[in-house]
Amino acid sequence: MSNVQTSVRERFATRAADEVADLPPQLSAIGLRKSYRKGPSEVPVLRGVDIAIERGEFVSIIGQSGSGKSTLLHVLGTLDQGDSGQVHFAGKRIDNLPTRQRDRLRNRSIGMIFQFYHLLPELTALENVLSPLMIAEGWLSYWRQRHAFRDRATKLLKTMGLEHRIHHRPREMSGGEMQRTAIARALIAQPEVLLADEPTGNLDQPTGREILGILRTLNRQEKLTIVMVTHDLAIAEQADRVVRLVEGRVEQAD
Ligand code: ADP
Ligand code: MG
Repeated sequence: MSNVQTSVRERFATRAADEVADLPPQLSAIGLRKSYRKGPSEVPVLRGVDIAIERGEFVSIIGQSGSGKSTLLHVLGTLDQGDSGQVHFAGKRIDNLPTRQRDRLRNRSIGMIFQFYHLLPELTALENVLSPLMIAEGWLSYWRQRHAFRDRATKLLKTMGLEHRIHHRPREMSGGEMQRTAIARALIAQPEVLLADEPTGNLDQPTGREILGILRTLNRQEKLTIVMVTHDLAIAEQADRVVRLVEGRVEQAD
């Protein structure tokens, strides 16, 4: 490669890096604290968590069972609230939003998947995937857009390799199929961030690897920002960056 080409490339690379550096993190927490009451005593779980997840990053949070990983992920996703500290989404504080606005942001911008999938047993895969849109849009708006939504959900299920399971209920599916349905449901509202709580925790190794492969692809190809919590280092290391939750604080793992 000629020097001119090199310098042009470098200039572009630098500019791109600067532009990214100018943007606020996609999701961050500052000084997050949370305790649970256990009888007369308070048990501290988060003791001042600071974490910043950049746009397009795939970050794992690793920690022992009971270290507060799920608690942290729930607070980051506004499913739960800390006792103090702040959560910011794309530079905007979100932990103190009025409930309605917080629900709206969560429904539209944050997708979540869990160890036990949390699919609704009486709904088919397609209906499960559509359910966040029914909640986010309200009945009338959903009904007006139902054809487009069904197309989007069907496409997503196909992308997940589930064309043969569209009208099946969770009990008729394998663990991997249920998790892939849950991923499709998490993505239906086209969120900026996916939060994953032990997404392979209930799966055998090959199936777990398959789910991780899907997350990797979503991160690389769709630039989806992913925060994954796990107690398993081998799983955590599939991410770009691993941080460790120890004694209620986040430290960079090496
Ligand atoms: P992890 O996901 O890392 O296993 P959790 O965030 O689920 O950890 O839990 C952290 C600690 O907080 C544990 O000691 C757990 O027992 C406690 N805990 C979690 N949720 C509650 C709750 N709703 N009420 C009381 N204690 C809780
Ligand atoms: Mg947990």
